[in-house]
Amino acid sequence: MIVVENLTFDYPGTRALDRVSFRVTAGSITALVGPNGAGKTTLLRALAALEEPVAGTIRIAGIDVLAEPRACHRQVGYLSDFFGLYDELTVRQCLLHAAAIRGLAAAAGAAAALRSATRLGLAERLEAKAGTLSRGLRQRLAIAQAIVHRPALLLLDEPASGLDPEARHSLARLFLTLRDEGMTLLVSSHILAELDEYSDDMLVLRAGKLVAHNPVRAPAQPAPATPLRLLLATPCAGLGALLAAADEVTQVCLAGLTATFNFSGDDGARHRLLRRLIEAGAEVCALAEERPNLQQAYLDSVRGSAGEVGR
Ligand code: ATP
Repeated sequence: MIVVENLTFDYPGTRALDRVSFRVTAGSITALVGPNGAGKTTLLRALAALEEPVAGTIRIAGIDVLAEPRACHRQVGYLSDFFGLYDELTVRQCLLHAAAIRGLAAAAGAAAALRSATRLGLAERLEAKAGTLSRGLRQRLAIAQAIVHRPALLLLDEPASGLDPEARHSLARLFLTLRDEGMTLLVSSHILAELDEYSDDMLVLRAGKLVAHNPVRAPAQPAPATPLRLLLATPCAGLGALLAAADEVTQVCLAGLTATFNFSGDDGARHRLLRRLIEAGAEVCALAEERPNLQQAYLDSVRGSAGEVGR
């Protein structure tokens, strides 16, 4: 979906992007992370055909972005980190306008505006003027505008800023739905826990250079052992022996009310283990897989990066 080669961008006196190259496959969500000033916004703006690099090439859905910026705009939805809205227009009018400027005909635009408003929880606010919306609702309207034409690629710069926790969670679910419908998303944020909820891959920029491009989680494999974490409500005497008695359990580590261990059985075996624990009187709160998260992967990347691309 995105093919970037040797992208270099200069502001007067500053090299914001330095020979950046990467590929993003269609139907995925990529987190774009890096410290302040790393070049994330500049990269997103270049992908959205809003900035012209001094060197390099960008292809989106096969379109040469530098040669055909207008064609690119039809394929791309872009949410800027600092955006403006037409404050005197209603939510409905803002969305109709966004649909019209992206080439949707009137009837299709009206349906698209309603669908987009509904997806962002704005259906009740269609007749409210943009200027009267709270910060979080303005953010939602800006995202609704960015997806109104169902772009193949959605570029989002800090999309959750200003949103309350519930709205952030809804947004994460929306991103996963959009991906499952075939959209490709590139999302810049400093809130790694949030990116971790939905990202498949991670691009790390630092001082204009791409220093890592990795999957967030290793692909699921029929691994012989899965790390599991057991959490109890109250201490359970003999927990270690109970776990060790199961054939599928190895490397038990007990710490207070928590036990971690490797488990090599299938779902049925996991259910039987859980039943045995409960029958033995263990007050089990949770038994879940310990999964690596994006924050850990990011920290590993920046610690290990010495300016080279990791993929
Ligand atoms: P942040 O996380 O703080 O939003 P970022 O990763 O998005 O940062 P950019 O905004 O792309 O980084 O900035 C990359 C570099 O380009 C920085 O050194 C910044 O100071 C510089 N820069 C950005 N915009 C301009 C501009 N309009 N004129 C001059 N330099 C700029």
